[in-house]
Amino acid sequence: RGKRAFIAGVADDNGYGWAIAKSLAAAGAEILVGTWVPALNIFESSLRRGKFDESRVLPDGSLMNIAKVYPLDAVFDNPEDVPEDVKANKRYAGSSNWTVQEVAESVKKDFGSIDILVHSLANGPEVSKPLLETSRKGYLAAISASSYSYVSLLKHFVPIMNPGGSSISLTYIASERIIPGYGGGMSSAKAALESDTQVLAFEAGRKHKIRVNTISAGPLGSRAAKAIGFIEKMIDYSFANAPLQKELSAGEVGNTAAFLASPLASAITGAVIYVDNGLNAMGVGV
Ligand code: NAD
Repeated sequence: RGKRAFIAGVADDNGYGWAIAKSLAAAGAEILVGTWVPALNIFESSLRRGKFDESRVLPDGSLMNIAKVYPLDAVFDNPEDVPEDVKANKRYAGSSNWTVQEVAESVKKDFGSIDILVHSLANGPEVSKPLLETSRKGYLAAISASSYSYVSLLKHFVPIMNPGGSSISLTYIASERIIPGYGGGMSSAKAALESDTQVLAFEAGRKHKIRVNTISAGPLGSRAAKAIGFIEKMIDYSFANAPLQKELSAGEVGNTAAFLASPLASAITGAVIYVDNGLNAMGVGV
């Protein structure tokens, strides 16, 4: 039997989640995605209307098939967590079963189990503010959407993950080096995500033989990154200063995820894997 993957955080064809889905599909995996509730309608209608068909093409010429798109809001674990104003919001009221626990239950009902879990989502409402100017609310929102969302996803999906399964998240070097402009507590959220990768690797490894790794990716002009406002500068900086002076493609991150999810990586867990043209290894820009 081929492997089945659930990828949380796909809402268009520009981000790392889409690229990871493609690399996993090219390697023969069945693809399920979790799409942020407010972005669901436009993503599904664009898919249906063929807007992504060009980017669905796999190396063998076939088109990537997404077996099912699940609405998801990873800041809510179960229906009791959802505040009234969100429940009443038109964009949310039109979908159902989108809390983390409910999505895991739906996937179990529809498919029984998965082998690969990917977390490719982040959100920091105050990301454009320096940390010194970030509110408590903004900081905690960044941690909730970008770090705890991963703990929650893994917690709810582990019971339906087959032993030998693999889980992957996406992080950024701002967790361990100063990257001015990556504010609002997002640097803190990535530091938490990387630390949790180690603890979760231990817990999920001992209990369920599941590997847990995170990819520290270089800059990509995704929708989320464009919202931060400094992404072009980071791409230019990387091109000028990294050991490999080439554009970083989302597919390179996708291929690393496919490797990490495969038996080729059977002894790799608890790791931060850099896919950034080597920029992390530089001490100064040259
Ligand atoms: P993206 O816009 O493709 O992906 C982010 C996704 O998160 C979007 O689809 C968005 O709808 C979703 N999302 C936001 N809040 C959510 C919530 N509460 N519940 C469910 N989904 C939610 O952008 P991307 O840059 O590809 O981001 C994917 C991951 O890669 C993130 O973890 C990001 O921090 C990481 N990353 C990005 C870069 C970069 O330069 N783009 C670099 C390193 C790491």
